[in-house]
Formats: sequence, C-alpha cells, structure tokens
Amino acid sequence: MDIGALFKKKPCVFALEVFPPKRDSRVESVYNTLDKLGELPFDYVSVTYSAGGSGNRAYTGEIARYLKDKIGIEPLPHLTCLSSSRQEVAEELEGLAASGIKNILALRGDRNPSAPPREDYRYASDLIADITADGRFYIAAACYAEGHPESPSPEADIEALARKIEAGAGHLVSQLFFDNGRYYRFLSRLRKRGITCPVEAGVMPVVRPEQLSRTLALSSASLPADFSKLLARYEGDPQGFFDAGIDYASRQIRDLIEGGADGIHLYAMNRPSVARRIYENIADLL
Ligand code: FAD
Repeated sequence: MDIGALFKKKPCVFALEVFPPKRDSRVESVYNTLDKLGELPFDYVSVTYSAGGSGNRAYTGEIARYLKDKIGIEPLPHLTCLSSSRQEVAEELEGLAASGIKNILALRGDRNPSAPPREDYRYASDLIADITADGRFYIAAACYAEGHPESPSPEADIEALARKIEAGAGHLVSQLFFDNGRYYRFLSRLRKRGITCPVEAGVMPVVRPEQLSRTLALSSASLPADFSKLLARYEGDPQGFFDAGIDYASRQIRDLIEGGADGIHLYAMNRPSVARRIYENIADLL
C-alpha cells in the first residue's frame, strides 16, 4: 500500500517509529516487541536505518519485512544517503523492492565520524530524486518544526523542504518537539511557501529521566517551562516520572489532533507499554 493514500482516507494518520537492535543478540527480543506493538492499530510503522551510527543497517529491511509479512502492518523503512554510493543505494532499493516494500523515508543521515560522507549524495533531495527516478516507491521525507540544526535560517530550512517535495516526497515526518506552538508556526510558514503536503507531528513520551538529556542532544528540541517543571517534580520517583511523561505526551497529541495535524508519528522507543498507554489516552480522537 502507498502510505500517501492514508492521508486521503483519514483525518489523522497514527504512525509509530521503531528501531532495529544494536546487537545481533537482541534480534529475538525486538521481534517480541514488534509482536506486542503490532496489537495496536497503527496505520503504519517506520523503521530507522543505522540511526546513531549503530551499524545495524541490515536489520531495517528485515524488520520491515517482518512487519509486513508476519504482523500485517505497512512498513516505512528509512534510508540514508550521506555515506552511501549510488551503487549501494541502488542495491538497497533492489532489496526492498524484492521484499515487496512500497514506501521509503528518504534521509540524508547524520554526520558520523565512523562513516564519513561519500561523493554521491549531499542532501536528502538528491536521494529523493534517485528514488523518484526508480519509480517503484512512495517517498516520505523529514522536517524539523524547530529548524534543522545546520540550517542558517528558518527560510533556508523551508527552501530545503520545498526541494524535497519538488524531488518527489509525498509527505513530511517531523522531528520530535515538546512545544506544539512551534509545530503550528512551522506549519503556517510551510503553507505560506506553498508546501501543502501532509506533515506528521513527531511526539516522544519522555518516561525516564536519563532519556531526556539524550533526546534533547539528538533532536535539538526546546523544552517548554511547564514540561521541565513537571519532570523536575518527579525526580527520584520513577513511576511518577513515567506517568507524568505519558500524561504530557498524551495532552500534546490530543491538542495536535484537535488542532488539525495530518498525522502523529509516535517515538515510543520500542516500548509497547508506552505506546499502549498513549493509544488508550487518545483512541477516542482517532
Ligand atoms: P536534508 O534534507 O538533506 O537537510 C540537511 C541540511 O541541509 C538541513 O540543514 C537543510 O536545511 C540543508 N539543505 C538541504 N538541502 C539543501 C540544499 N539544496 N542547499 C543547501 N542546504 C540544503 N538519521 C539516521 O541516520 N537514520 C534514520 O533512520 C533517521 N531517521 C529520521 C527520521 C526523522 C523523522 C527525522 C526527522 C530524522 C531522522 N534521522 C535519521 C536524522 C537525519 O538523518 C538528520 O536530521 C540529518 O542531519 C538530516 O537529514 P535530512 O534528511 O533532513 O537532510
């Protein structure tokens, strides 16, 4: 199924991101996790590609196949290009097409000292153009409600997104954010620029104190004062912190759905208990 078609059928698409295991020994436990996550009615599940340079690329396609063939849910494997050659990308596309995969989230990838950039790709739009030319896949791309950290200005960032859409991306998936106001302002800048495609809002429930600093470092998301106060109140109380994180993300998502977001992209960190609690809190709106 072409994931783009979902946005025509549903007022708000509900999607999940999962990531492959960092070590081979963890593969089985990831499949158990996927089985549990598959009990929830996600419209599709995206699968990261060597995010953070963990060297687990081979599992992205394998997990996408498992989601499609064993769980019966549409997968959206991610694919990065910065440290790949055109030949390697062509091989990845062959492998995905042979497995019946129809959708790809096309990304540049983060800079990673252990996988230096190659010559063939500079931006995600270069990869999107190649996948469009290939012709076998629906393409999604990434966006940043608070701007990409390397962008010189919000305007330059929006122009980069316009290039991705022109190259063939059908919808955008946002980096996580905690302040819905930033998403709404970003959306209005996009619409003013004439970018009318669906934009999924990325939401991550923060349920452990140590998750917060890592998340902020990786995403550059800003932390609203009410959220930091809430989390500070439950320091030293793991269950209280967990509940407060679920509550904040649930309220954030409810506001986004009521505010007309095209989709929610849930970053539940491969935790079925987190995904289930969030789903239960928002199911009436979906
Ligand atoms: P691009 O769209 O190429 O943008 C990168 C920078 O270049 C931006 O600052 C942009 O404004 C600028 N730019 C783009 N085009 C031009 C141009 N033509 N001229 C000048 N400037 C330009 N990383 C992984 O390694 N694996 C994953 O699975 C993964 N999944 C992700 C999923 C989502 C939803 C998001 C939001 C991010 C994900 N990332 C992942 C991280 C992503 O790879 C990084 O954020 C990366 O730094 C940028 O990727 P991009 O596709 O947005 O790049």
